[in-house]
Amino acid sequence: MAVHAHPDDESSKGAATTAKYAAEGDDVLVVTLTGGERGSILNPAMDIPGVLDRIEEVRREEMAEAAKALGVRQHWLGFRDSGLPEGDPPPPLPEGSFALVPLDEATEALVRLVREFRPHVMTTYDENGGYPHPDHIMCHKVSVAAFEAAGDPERFPDAGEPWTPLKLYYDHGFSLQRLLTFADEYEKIGDPFPMQEFLDRIRAAAAERGDIMTRVTTQIECAKYFPQRDDALRAHATQIDPNGAFFAIPLEMQQRLWPTEEFELARTRVRTEIPEHDLFAGIREADETATTAVEDES
Ligand SMILES: [Zn+2]
Repeated sequence: MAVHAHPDDESSKGAATTAKYAAEGDDVLVVTLTGGERGSILNPAMDIPGVLDRIEEVRREEMAEAAKALGVRQHWLGFRDSGLPEGDPPPPLPEGSFALVPLDEATEALVRLVREFRPHVMTTYDENGGYPHPDHIMCHKVSVAAFEAAGDPERFPDAGEPWTPLKLYYDHGFSLQRLLTFADEYEKIGDPFPMQEFLDRIRAAAAERGDIMTRVTTQIECAKYFPQRDDALRAHATQIDPNGAFFAIPLEMQQRLWPTEEFELARTRVRTEIPEHDLFAGIREADETATTAVEDES
């Protein structure tokens, strides 16, 4: 179960990993906490009459396309996008925004879905939200709270039969080390690095908090699924400029130089060894041991 704040986040964070597990036969569910109603149109080609006035519908259509590209199922949790408050000081969040929903109320909604879908593994964002959008921070809080509460019969007793997910991960997409690897390659070739602006931003963030690579416990080899990731991103046509930085580095170069996606194991209820290369490490093994034990008894 991959928990995300807005439609398009599932296609930019850990997307190829979800596509890989889905292709290998795992049941993958993307949970989108808000409808992305307050996302502005970031693709000039889509900034045309008739799009913004039916933005909710448009984002649902885009999400359906993206889920199809990744080969995953998707569920809306039904909260309202808080928007990214801009200004100094930032304006108050609009009434009814997801980030203003009491934590217990939002957690109960996610717990209900966890108890229904019964995931072994959940993914979400770290305490900084990956980037400081109030809905991303809230996504972190709600996912951690739901991971803790779903298996406890005392918590949210009206939200279904308890189910205990086994591992919780944070997505870590924006690594300085990864960008520097690409920047080096461009320097070797003698071309200007097309993501320089983005690199500068990530470098500034890393100077403050350190590169997120130091937090990574788990790298998933998923280069084969990068084309699906890009198709899913492009499906969010109002949000993603196909001529923008996200698509600037050739796929072949990404697959060759950085064929993985990165995660941090934040909670586990099974034994596992770090570094990991599988989100289900320790779970499939435990299953096999259990099966063998049953066979031995018979
Ligand atoms: Zn988002």
